[in-house]
Amino acid sequence: MHADHYSDLIAALQRANSIILLSHIRPDGDAYGSTLGLGLSLIAQGKQVRIFNRDGLNNLYHFLPRAELIEKTPEQLPPADLIVALDTSTEDRLGLADSLKPAVGVPIDWNVDHHVSNTLYGKNQFIDPSQPATASIITDLIAEARWPLTAEIAASLYVGIMTDTGSFRYRGTSPRTFDQASLLVSKGADPAELAKHCYQSISLPRFKLMQHALAGLQFEFDGALAHTTLTVKDFTELGALPEDTEGIVEAGLTVSGTELSAFFELKPNDGLKVSLRSKGRINVSELAQEFGGGGHPGAAGIGFKTNGTASRELVLARLRKEFTK
Ligand code: 5GP
Ligand code: MN
Repeated sequence: MHADHYSDLIAALQRANSIILLSHIRPDGDAYGSTLGLGLSLIAQGKQVRIFNRDGLNNLYHFLPRAELIEKTPEQLPPADLIVALDTSTEDRLGLADSLKPAVGVPIDWNVDHHVSNTLYGKNQFIDPSQPATASIITDLIAEARWPLTAEIAASLYVGIMTDTGSFRYRGTSPRTFDQASLLVSKGADPAELAKHCYQSISLPRFKLMQHALAGLQFEFDGALAHTTLTVKDFTELGALPEDTEGIVEAGLTVSGTELSAFFELKPNDGLKVSLRSKGRINVSELAQEFGGGGHPGAAGIGFKTNGTASRELVLARLRKEFTK
């Protein structure tokens, strides 16, 4: 890595006094961890920081230090010197109100991300697909800039890296990832405590949703393709929340010989959310892009606002083609 790798982004953040940090809809550990980690380090330097997410803070991540700083994105963004989007591959996934949409000139100053499918929106970009998490990028940036890295900041960033690497198991996990984790743990991030919060603290409805999704798992092509579907009714009957689907699609890959796992979530008004995971042979980012989605080679997703039921069949047919050609 070049010494000046982060210099433009560091300088922009350094110059600004008021900063807005945004991340993607249906936020995960990296969306929250990277924005909170960077936000807290900027606050520690006396800057005014607002952290916005369309979905606010969900139940899974209340344990994050200073999680109350995460606010629901307002219809109008307050004035700020700098607006930074983190971990968000497309402008659409920022979930901004129509009044803030690109056509009206959404003023994203910096687009900081690790998705290879990033559409390069915004005035400036810092995209590094060699990093397995946006929190990895922020860890290197804070280290390079010699900015504050307290135990709270370290914990936020550690959660981003841990969750986006599947606890240091997914492709993309490199020696550098362990160097970052080592730094964060030395600064006070507690691996056992944070893993307990992320993996051993789920609600009973969430467990029942997982149980139901696993019971409905279907295997095709001698188990090479695994898929399962949840409906709106499943959520209401089990009392589960939208964020309770984390981990379902990964469970489909646990069987030996399974190469591709798909999870279909039918939404109100015939919407559909598709999650795809691959063990490596199949590039699910390319498959998702065929349907207007995106992500990484091993983990990708697609959203359909309408025609969900029919789209599910189309996606399934396309996935099956991977095993018949
Ligand atoms: P998940 O299946 O966990 O929702 O998403 C897996 C990966 O695919 C994430 O990196 C996420 O950013 C990306 N992804 C999920 N849904 C979409 C989508 O609708 N559009 C795009 N461009 N990427 C998505
Ligand atoms: Mn991420």
